[in-house]
Amino acid sequence: MEAPKLEGVIGLEIHVQITSLKTKLFCNCSADYRSAPPNTHVCPVCLGLPGALPVVNQEAIEKAIQVCLALNGKVASKVRFDRKHYFYPDLPKNYQITQYLEPICVDGWVELETGNGIKRVRIRRINLEEDPGRIVYPGGSPANSPYVLIDYNRSGIALLEIVTEPDMTTPEEAYLFLEKLRSILEHLGVCDCGLEGAMRVDANVSIRGGERVEVKNIGSLSEVRRALAYELTRQRDFVLKGLKVKRETRHWDPVRKVTLPARIKETEEDYRYMPDPNLPPIPVGSELVEKLRQALPELPDARMKRLAKQYSIPLNVARVLVTRKVLADFFEDAARMYTRDYKRMANYLVNDLLNWLKDEDLRGLYRKVLPEHLAKVMELLDKGVISIRQAKEMAEYIAKQGKDPEALIKELGYERITDKSLLKRIVEEVFHENPKAVRDALENPKAVNFLVGMVMRKTRGRADPAITRRLIEEKLQHLRTKNK
Ligand SMILES: [Zn+2]
Repeated sequence: MEAPKLEGVIGLEIHVQITSLKTKLFCNCSADYRSAPPNTHVCPVCLGLPGALPVVNQEAIEKAIQVCLALNGKVASKVRFDRKHYFYPDLPKNYQITQYLEPICVDGWVELETGNGIKRVRIRRINLEEDPGRIVYPGGSPANSPYVLIDYNRSGIALLEIVTEPDMTTPEEAYLFLEKLRSILEHLGVCDCGLEGAMRVDANVSIRGGERVEVKNIGSLSEVRRALAYELTRQRDFVLKGLKVKRETRHWDPVRKVTLPARIKETEEDYRYMPDPNLPPIPVGSELVEKLRQALPELPDARMKRLAKQYSIPLNVARVLVTRKVLADFFEDAARMYTRDYKRMANYLVNDLLNWLKDEDLRGLYRKVLPEHLAKVMELLDKGVISIRQAKEMAEYIAKQGKDPEALIKELGYERITDKSLLKRIVEEVFHENPKAVRDALENPKAVNFLVGMVMRKTRGRADPAITRRLIEEKLQHLRTKNK
């Protein structure tokens, strides 16, 4: 019998807020809960007061259908809502309106480019549902807080719950999936996933054949890799020691970088799902679906291929550009201002500028760094005003401080030295310090390059090469006539 390989099995459950909506899912309250004072964007519907009746936000349904189509799913013929009952302070009605019996979307898929070729991750279902209120722990965590605060501004925000099949086997694949999903949602204009709490990830993790552990509370994409790697290692250790992994829910602790058992919910809860009698099913016509399909924008895969072709850049660079909509937009905006060498520009953006935009959400793009800055660096390189090394050094100042490249030339002392008397003095020094090189240069014109190089080194590359060369030639000629 073959030894077990202890392969990981990962399924994801992603909650995505439809941040493009102005209002909540079932009432007219503003959906902007982040900037408003707590409990100001509320009404009887989202506070769950008796007798309040929900009205579905039609735009939310249309956005959900577009997400379904972009993820290659089948759109339900009716939008139906169910009640999921549980008792918790973030839920004023004591039930959440969600979709259980018939999700708005089933059977989708996303293709990933992994190290081992194309991999398809299936989407089991997408539910449209409402976000609960936001619980704030004044002490930072439940254990350190004698009481909690609740902000119902978030209560009723439209949410998509996207559930995958357990098709991923490594943390890297899970990361690639989420990265692709995020880019698709950004291109659809559904979610500004960089906003705090706009994309939340739970994962089901197991070693093939073993019990499943649900890891909750993974806050960011970079944390996903860490959390899953930790959990898979923990479970493998168990199996290797001959122990059984317990079926449980665990929380990712981003500070200690471990998963910890959740104290609540050891068994499946009975949510007593039932169709919401206040929300009769809404038929979804095939014309509407067709109209929404026609209105789909260019999605990341198509955009990657177009960028590679239109700008003659390598496919792997185009792939990096489309991982974030803002990054691809930034490149295309700069490409309208600078057209000579797209490949060099794309590389500079991806390798140099990005290297200094440390935050995961690229908030610096368009806020600090502008497309003009990128285009200007390329022009300065073309004109020979700066060297490649200087362009690379500039990247840090442009990315972090939004400095204008032209202003940086002065600030960083990159200006060319064209002052003849100053250069003459430096040439004198170089001649004095390198008598052998001077003798060589008198015989062999090719050896002049060495002397030019020495002047460059003394001026940290700032000496004007043409003037420098002329001064050296003049001085050599002078020596020749003197020696005769
Ligand atoms: Zn409301």
